[in-house]
Amino acid sequence: MNEWTEVQKQRLQELGATEAQTAAIFGSAEERNRAYQSLEQALVARCAELLLQYRITTKQPALTSLEINLANTLVTAGFAQVATPTLLSKGLLAKMTITEDHPLFKQVFWLDERKCLRPMLAPNLYFVLKDLLRLWPHPVSIFEIGPCFRKDTQGGKHQQEFTMLNLVEMGLSKERCAERLKELAALVLKAAGIENYTMAAELSDVYGETIDLVKGDLELGSGAVGPHPLDANWGITVPWVGIGFGLERLLMAKEGHSNIQRAGRSLTYLNGIRLNI
Ligand code: ATP
Ligand code: MG
Repeated sequence: MNEWTEVQKQRLQELGATEAQTAAIFGSAEERNRAYQSLEQALVARCAELLLQYRITTKQPALTSLEINLANTLVTAGFAQVATPTLLSKGLLAKMTITEDHPLFKQVFWLDERKCLRPMLAPNLYFVLKDLLRLWPHPVSIFEIGPCFRKDTQGGKHQQEFTMLNLVEMGLSKERCAERLKELAALVLKAAGIENYTMAAELSDVYGETIDLVKGDLELGSGAVGPHPLDANWGITVPWVGIGFGLERLLMAKEGHSNIQRAGRSLTYLNGIRLNI
């Protein structure tokens, strides 16, 4: 019984072989190697075809179109978009209780003693919300979409650089919060083309209890409801709901990619199509 060698299997997966193709079994090593040659050739030809199609019709990475689509959906639903810096100060991170002894602290990319690449959008959103809550009628509904960075163990579901969508609505009535969280999750997941997700309560290192949005065994996003003890660091006292989604995870769920690499920013894939062919 001969399976693909590890090297063969990896190459076939990179080229977009189906699960059935990568699980194939052969009578002999010679038979397997012949089959590899012809399958590899066929997959390479298909990638070349897809890349040509990309140049002529698709023209935009799915990650970019998803970002535009979600931003339009939220703006239409009454949210205002913000764009805050990717560089974050140690002080703002500390306000999220992420200090030396916090599990997330070890995952942070430090640029120098005082500055890091943001691992999440929440500290910046809190920062602008403390002013917007003063200046705008309630509820105040804002969102940001942008890169976040974490030294997450590399695996099929994590990248060190990924794209977060974080939406927050503050100053709604406490009774509305749980229902609103569901509505907002449904709005985003529908726009991302994802059906049959589930919601499950989870424990989070930052927020205590979160409500995770899950498809199969893939976490798509985490939602939370306030008032929350963290709010005091910003002088915020009103009830709120917020959800953070990973855009690459949304693409994985929609396209059925088994590896996040295909969905994210990449030098080896263009829109999920392997370039070294
Ligand atoms: P996980 O448990 O999957 O590591 P998390 O609970 O640590 O994720 P959150 O802090 O809840 O992540 O971030 C919100 C969302 O951002 C997650 O639900 C996920 O979709 C996405 N996300 C978080 N970390 C990564 C990563 N390293 N790569 C890709 N997406 C990520
Ligand atoms: Mg989470």
